[in-house]
This record gives sequence, C-alpha cells and structure tokens, in this order.
Amino acid sequence: MADRDPLGEINQLQTELCILQSHLDRLLTRIRQNEEVFFRFQSLETQLLTLNSLRELVEHVLDDTRTVFELNFVTLALIDAKGQVEQFLQEDGLPAGKLKELILLPSDLSLKPIFGRGLRPYLGVFGARHQVLFPGETTPQSCALLPLVRRGELLGVLSLGSAEPTRFTLGMATDFLERLRQVLSVCLENTLNFELLRRTSLIDTLTGVNNRRFFEQRLREEIDRAQRTGEPLACLFLDIDHFKRINDTFGHQSGDLVLAEVASQIRSQLRSQDVLARYGGEEFVALLSSASERQAIEIAERIRKRIQAHQIVDHNGQTITVTLSIGVAEYDPARVSPMTETDQQRFLELADQALYVAKRNGRNQVASGGTYLCLTERQAIRRA
Ligand code: GH3
Ligand code: MG
Ligand code: MG
Repeated sequence: MADRDPLGEINQLQTELCILQSHLDRLLTRIRQNEEVFFRFQSLETQLLTLNSLRELVEHVLDDTRTVFELNFVTLALIDAKGQVEQFLQEDGLPAGKLKELILLPSDLSLKPIFGRGLRPYLGVFGARHQVLFPGETTPQSCALLPLVRRGELLGVLSLGSAEPTRFTLGMATDFLERLRQVLSVCLENTLNFELLRRTSLIDTLTGVNNRRFFEQRLREEIDRAQRTGEPLACLFLDIDHFKRINDTFGHQSGDLVLAEVASQIRSQLRSQDVLARYGGEEFVALLSSASERQAIEIAERIRKRIQAHQIVDHNGQTITVTLSIGVAEYDPARVSPMTETDQQRFLELADQALYVAKRNGRNQVASGGTYLCLTERQAIRRA
C-alpha cells in the first residue's frame, strides 16, 4: 500500500473546492442574470397587455425590447395592405417615417423568403435577404426575426439584431423570444381590431366625417385644452338650406350625395386639428381650436362661399347647388372657467341659436352668437 500524503490530499481537495466554488459562483451569476431578464420580461409583458392604442404598442415594443434584451437593433415591421396602420398612427400623432425602427410594408411578399410557409422564427447570421427588416445604414451580425402571426395570417415581424455574430444562433434556447412572439401577436391583433372598431363606431358612414358621439367626446377634451393653453375655442353649426327640397326635387339618393359632398367641402376648409362631425340629418358641427370669434366668422364665410360655388353632379347627370347657414360661438377660457356640463351645452346652444338667426334672416349667411358667458355674467350684463 502506498504511503498516504495527507497534506497533498488536503491541497488537492482545496483545489477541487475552489473549482467547485467558481462553478457555483458562475451558476449563481447566471441565475441572477436570468432572474433579472425574467423580471424585465414580465414587466414588458404586463405593459403590453395594458396598452390601448397602436401608437403606444409600437413605441413600447421598440423601447422595451431594446432595454430588456440589451440590444442595439430592434425594428417592428407591420403589414399595411390598406394603408390603415399608417392612418391610425398618423391620427394618433405618429406620422409615417417619424420612427425609423417602424417599417410599414404594403404586403408580405418580401418576408415570404425569410420565413417560408411555416412562418417559423429565424435565428442566425444576418444575410442580405434580411435587409428589409433592418433598413438602417449599419446592419447587425446576427438576428432573431419573430413573425407575428394570428390565425395563419402574418401581421408583422419583430426583429432583434446584435453586433455579436453569436448572440443569436440556430438552435439556441428561445423560450423568452417564443413567448414574446405569442403575446405580441395577440396584442397586435387586438389593438388593430380595437382601432378599427374605435374609428368605425365614431364615423358617420354616409359622409365619412365623425359622428355626434365622437363630437361629444372631443368637446370636453377641446374645452380642457383651451383651459390649459388659455386659447379660445370656436364652434360652428352648419345646416344645409332647404335640404328637404333637394330630396323632393332630385330624390333621396341625390340628397345623400349632396350630404357627402358638402361634408367633404367643409372638411377641405378646416385644419387637420379641427373637429368636424355630422350632428344629425343635414346639420354639421365644427370645433375650431385656437380660433377667436373673428377668425371663426372668417372661416365660416369661406366655407359658405365655397359651398355656394360648388356644383354637384348627381347620378342622373343633373347639377345641384346648395347653400349653407352657419351659426358661430366662441369660448374664451379667460371668461368662463371651469366649464360645467351645463355650460358646455349652453355654449353649443349659443352657436345653434346663431344658426337660427342666420336662417331667419334669409339663409345662406353667417351669424354669430358672440362669446359664451356664464349665467351670472349674463345677468350682470342684463342688469347694467
Ligand atoms: P332649413 O333651410 O330650414 O334647414 O330647411 P331644410 O329643408 O333643410 O330642413 P328640414 O329640417 O325641414 O328638412 C331636413 C331634411 O333633411 C328632411 C330629411 O328628410 C332630410 N334628411 C335628413 N337626413 C338625411 C339623409 O341621411 N339623407 C337624405 N337624403 N336626406 C336626409
Ligand atoms: Mg336644413
Ligand atoms: Mg336641420
């Protein structure tokens, strides 16, 4: 039997212990890192589930994915065959081209070669055919391309890119990425449906302008904005003169055409931030932000002249012309603040009464009800 060397054995044990300890340390560090990624990922997921507009979704996905996965390249491509996505974002204050990481594609044609029929994610080295998803000047070395799919339809692609060639490789563990892909696909589908519904339920189908429900929502917002900025807000009530005669003379179908044409002519005279809604029948209402009574009267005159000069040709080739009567009222936040629900209704009534003055005085004209004053102010003026 060989002589034992207790000291050597202890040394050997100590070396093994050191190796074990360093393995353990590395393992613990990895666990902590994974835990951190997991928490960040969880908060990203929770965020995604609470968003309520497409703009928010796009911005959060781009920002948060970059942070959670600590990446230099993140892009989101959305298939926008009908131009609706672009319109939704534009209406929400995010015009096309403002966010360079957002790519809107007219079809999925350029993506087919990347994902094939199965629409499976791609992980691996960056190649020329991936350029469509990383259109910037610098391109990544490796990438993870996650197709966002619902009911077999490709809605878009979330693309993650890294300057490290081995960051994304074929066959790597992709639990987080797969889950992100699934959650994001559902969120994207829901948000797109919601945006579509939100708009169609607030739009008048005949004229394409907003409906009364939308107007009532916006009125509160516009009044609040006027109070914040201190700028005035003007309201116009616009009613087609003798419209019943148009229906009686040319038929209901031509009447419908006249309504649509008048709406689009009025819209063409307003700024994009102004609200225009069909209030009912052949009556429209507009809210002009930052417009004083004088400016509102000028705009109303411009609209009136435009309608008077506009010739509408109906399906029988008959030319129809109509005129508008317009009532104006101004809200000055320096005069009345806060605005109660009752004040709000009275402000509308002021414009509506002015419209009736215009009708009484012979139609095809603009009348103003002036600046809205609250009850006590009006009483004081009456007493003076
Ligand atoms: P005034 O100058 O006093 O405003 O007269 P008017 O004839 O325009 O007003 P009145 O309220 O007497 O008639 C409004 C007409 O608008 C009656 C209604 O049949 C018609 N109308 C309401 N909604 C529609 C619609 O969606 N399509 C068509 N074609 N006509 C409509
Ligand atoms: Mg009318
Ligand atoms: Mg009317």
